[in-house]
Amino acid sequence: MKLKFLGACNEVGRSGVLIETDKKIITDYGVKIRAETVEKYLPVHPPADVDMLVITHAHLDHSGGAPFIRENTNATIVTTPPTRDLVKLLLKDNIKIMGRENLPYSMNAYKQTINKMYTTPHNRKMKIGETDITLVDAGHITGSAMVKIEYKNKTLLYTGDYNTIDSQLHKGTKFDEHVDYLITESTYGNREHPDRRKTELEFVESIKEVLDNKGNVLVPAFAVDRTQEVLSVIRKHIRHAPVYMDGMNIDASEIMLKYPKYVSNYNEFVRALKTVNLVTSNRTREEAVSHPSIIISTSGMLSGGPALSYLHSLPPNSAIFLAGYCVEETNGWYLMNKGYIMQDGMALKVGLPWKYFDFSAHIDHKHILKFMKKVSPEKVFTVHGDDTKGFAEDLKEQGYDAVGPDRGQKFEL
Ligand SMILES: [Zn+2]
Ligand SMILES: [Zn+2]
Repeated sequence: MKLKFLGACNEVGRSGVLIETDKKIITDYGVKIRAETVEKYLPVHPPADVDMLVITHAHLDHSGGAPFIRENTNATIVTTPPTRDLVKLLLKDNIKIMGRENLPYSMNAYKQTINKMYTTPHNRKMKIGETDITLVDAGHITGSAMVKIEYKNKTLLYTGDYNTIDSQLHKGTKFDEHVDYLITESTYGNREHPDRRKTELEFVESIKEVLDNKGNVLVPAFAVDRTQEVLSVIRKHIRHAPVYMDGMNIDASEIMLKYPKYVSNYNEFVRALKTVNLVTSNRTREEAVSHPSIIISTSGMLSGGPALSYLHSLPPNSAIFLAGYCVEETNGWYLMNKGYIMQDGMALKVGLPWKYFDFSAHIDHKHILKFMKKVSPEKVFTVHGDDTKGFAEDLKEQGYDAVGPDRGQKFEL
């Protein structure tokens, strides 16, 4: 096997690896959101004769460049059924935000991408030439998969984003087979998450406190999975308080409802969703803040979407509970680090208290090491982290043959 790392080297964003067996396979082709230039937006360009692009999950840092592959190669694009639907939703939204004129691909390539993605469920082996490819549950978001590639008695696992601990809506990955080569994400390669159960309880208790004080709780959360996860946690502990959902999370929820096999505690999820007031007009938006309630809204980083407009209409005694990671220089990050947000180039002070809750769907340091013990790879490559090289050094100290590759670097295995 030969490898070429196309992106996500010492950064989170624009994931992509070219894996050569008797076929040329690319695992993920993402984008870097908020990149200043097209050069920094995409991974290294693919060779024209790629046979297949496998997308691990819908997040744009793994899927956003798929139309660029469609435009420049004849590769077949493959993913799981929920990921196909979620990619359509997120690509459409991304184009709306970026503007057609700023895309590195044509609208035609975009249309061809969303109309022609092949799907395969988890755990079904696909054969392409002499190479076997299997998508296995990654435990990250709905439809997420790791890619297992088998060729000439060697096995490679590309993890994409993954998690080994259970959340409300997803069981952690159960993958535990030996692999020869491992390409692992390392977003939390140098950090640990707090205990999940404790975080859930703190979150719920904090919400109750605000509601008891007749305030509203605004939970800025990502549309895909995080909103639904937060909702499930809330409804597990708080039966009756009114919950409103606003933004693209409504469309994402509809997609998740179509795939019971890809969502754990599915029945509870359906029940929780039925109790939600969907915000579809300004009238419902006003209603949401007219009495104590919980409002889950996009965008998760307060970088736009209805969440931002609530900041101006929430009554005193309200609070903002961030439920997702905020990238530097987004409003969520400004709020947590400087106490203000940026709007129309001006810093606006936010008078309400805020808290951050770690509901991350990424595996952390301790669990990556546990996972690696199980799969005992001969060689490990670290990608998708702010310090993939540092993490590789750390793994070396644990006795692994580990590399944090550079963008564009090639390996022959
Ligand atoms: Zn992800
Ligand atoms: Zn990612």
